[in-house]
Amino acid sequence: NQSLLEVDPEIAAVLDGELARQRDTLEMIASENFVPRAVLQAQGSVLTNKYAEGYPGRRYYGGCEQVDVAENLAIARAKSLFGAEHANVQPHSGATANAAVLHALINKGDKILGLELAHGGHLTHGMKINFSGKLYDVSAYGVDPQSYRIEMDEVRKTALETRPDVIIAGWSAYPRHIDFAAFREIADEVGAKLWVDMAHFAGLVAAGLHPSPVPYADVVSSTVHKTIGGPRSGFILSKEEYAKKIDSAVFPGQQGGPLMHVVAAKAVSFKIAASDDFKDRQERTLRGASIIADRLAQPDVAEKGVSVLTGGTDVHLVLVDLRHSELDGQQAEDLLHAVGITVNRNAVPFDPRPPRVTSGLRIGTPALATRGFGDTEFAEVAEIIAATLKAGAGADVEGLSARVSRLTADFPLYPGLSQ
Ligand code: PLP
Repeated sequence: NQSLLEVDPEIAAVLDGELARQRDTLEMIASENFVPRAVLQAQGSVLTNKYAEGYPGRRYYGGCEQVDVAENLAIARAKSLFGAEHANVQPHSGATANAAVLHALINKGDKILGLELAHGGHLTHGMKINFSGKLYDVSAYGVDPQSYRIEMDEVRKTALETRPDVIIAGWSAYPRHIDFAAFREIADEVGAKLWVDMAHFAGLVAAGLHPSPVPYADVVSSTVHKTIGGPRSGFILSKEEYAKKIDSAVFPGQQGGPLMHVVAAKAVSFKIAASDDFKDRQERTLRGASIIADRLAQPDVAEKGVSVLTGGTDVHLVLVDLRHSELDGQQAEDLLHAVGITVNRNAVPFDPRPPRVTSGLRIGTPALATRGFGDTEFAEVAEIIAATLKAGAGADVEGLSARVSRLTADFPLYPGLSQ
């Protein structure tokens, strides 16, 4: 019954250090968020002890009466939140959810068509050394070189040329809505199935602030830890006709025992995601991203060679184009880090720099909205980012850090929590 501190002071120090880091900096990685205390509690619970291979009521282990309740709640809440016919809440992560989707829909060697990785697609949508690139015959559509948007004529053209078995819509770095109805039409025209990966924007969909892919897609996959703000994990929604195939692709196709502590935490997150507070948080997330995009599109920033891809955003992130700035992606990420703002460098489409350096930044607002930020705070964050990127190597790191510290002090994170 010894505490973590007694058993392993080194790891206890990591937890303390990480809590302090999260409290004292501005978290703006678009794929991150802060889970509520209730989720931490479910996830750090005795449910981690339980083996539960199979599905509720059809397990391969005894003693599943309690975890069955948790999984049934998670399934029912996911279906109701998104209006889906079927939900599988067992995937350990977004990537394993995606592996299960392809496993369920097609066979090795079949053709997939997704958004180019370098234009904002995800590794699991066909990257060469990912399972998706190794097992399937991959083609990609890109964004338009002028508008930087996914143009549906181009998607259609590529689909007609390549005749994919599955078309993938979804992204890791793209600031605009996707036309799901147009994707459905193209999929029908070429006889493909439509899979939407809504990992990034699922929270916005849940709040009714982003078009839902559920009515259009055969299968929808997602993570729970990005805009939804739940435990690090994945889930899959589908039409009833794919239910059996999806379930057997997840278990036993992909995974062994589900992480029941995480499944319970997903149930909690889906409950929270149906609340008015959650909707308010997603609204602040969207407004925050727009405020930052608008600020970074002003002439004083533009004249330093910094621009906003597509000129703005419809979602929770802003893509900053640094191809004409004195800073590359790595330098800009490091400079913002020094100021106390955590973002990630990100390749922009047609990026001349290598992926380890890049010419872009991806800046997201979900975590700060969860922290309580509204328009006033996001306007101040936008000013700090603009001042940093404008000044480059000459930035007043001390002065800007002090402004960051005022914001973090005004919005305490996990008050009262100690690890
Ligand atoms: N799908 C998309 C679109 C993503 O952006 C991500 C995460 O970055 C994933 C899937 C994978 O999620 P995970 O990191 O949980 O495997």
